[in-house]
Amino acid sequence: MPSIQTYKIVILPGDGVGPEVTAAARDVLNVIADFYGHRFEFSEHLIGGAAIDATGDPLPPETVEACLASHGVLLGAVGGPKWEGGKRRPEEGLLNIRKAMGLFANLRPLQVSPVMAHRSPLKKEIVEGVDLIVFRELTGGVYFGEKVRTDTMASDLCVYSVEEIERVTRAAFRIALQRRGKVTSVDKANVMETSRLWREVVTRIHAEEFPQVQLEHALVDSMAMHLIRKPREYDVILTENMFGDILSDEISVLGGSIGLLPSASLGSGGPGLFEPIHGSAPDIAGRDLANPVGTILSAAMLLRHGLGLDDEASSIEAAVAAVLAAGATTADLGGELGTRAAGEAIIDAIRAIH
Ligand code: ATP
Ligand code: MG
Repeated sequence: MPSIQTYKIVILPGDGVGPEVTAAARDVLNVIADFYGHRFEFSEHLIGGAAIDATGDPLPPETVEACLASHGVLLGAVGGPKWEGGKRRPEEGLLNIRKAMGLFANLRPLQVSPVMAHRSPLKKEIVEGVDLIVFRELTGGVYFGEKVRTDTMASDLCVYSVEEIERVTRAAFRIALQRRGKVTSVDKANVMETSRLWREVVTRIHAEEFPQVQLEHALVDSMAMHLIRKPREYDVILTENMFGDILSDEISVLGGSIGLLPSASLGSGGPGLFEPIHGSAPDIAGRDLANPVGTILSAAMLLRHGLGLDDEASSIEAAVAAVLAAGATTADLGGELGTRAAGEAIIDAIRAIH
């Protein structure tokens, strides 16, 4: 008998709505395992405020160990008013797990279905059919450069090494090859030396290793404009840490609801971390109100980018699209379903597809 591969998946429910949305995603993964004959071995561990309450530490060592030994990590959310002003911050847990796992690229895909287009602040004709992914570098830039503050001045140093740019660039080109084959690299090369280096390195990696990908360069200011005017033209958007932070938030509103969008953070080779882009939403936590779709789509990204299970990921995405099109949604999208019922509707749709 052929042996079934076992995939170890760590679930970090975290705080607020995290436990509810990760439970819904886990149910979906179990159904996928049944249909495709995989074995997913789940283990849950503490992070964030929940971990502070239980152990005093927002990232207990055993959580780090379990994540490093896994094939992929699915996170709910961390933080909430309960821990504000405390000695330890829940968000430390998230920053430190990213560091411990060596994650250097954050991916935020956006696909705008007709239902989402209807709720978008932009005209339906502009956003319907958008299918792009923002690739944000996570380890460099002004976030980590030297910070100086005196009474009369302040400075934030922006630093990038060639190696940091190379690895995120390669990751973005590889993903582009699985998509429509276009990369838009975003920088501020008319002002910043780090951006001039960025542009040089991206151009060289393109010529040497990925000539079949279509590459264009854009300045971040004009990109912010184009993303509103003609978002359908983009496929993979590659950019440094702070520009990526800003553009990610910009694109997150194009689709109409924060509850729908997934994200992935990837390193080189090791397990990735997958989470919805929304926070812990303490205002609706524990009431079966949260939209589980962002976390369920994050689980699909875990299958695709973490485990290499492309068909499985696509079947989750198709089920989500069908359910949204049928209007079976949570209150944030004007529907009447609770978190659990919305998850079950997606499971029913997966069964209907198979
Ligand atoms: P963070 O600082 O962790 O990013 P935040 O306060 O900026 O948190 P969220 O926690 O994402 O942002 O919440 C912003 C708003 O969106 C809240 O009103 C919340 O209820 C709503 N929201 C967030 N996630 C969901 C979801 N999955 N389903 C429905 N509404 C959500
Ligand atoms: Mg926020």
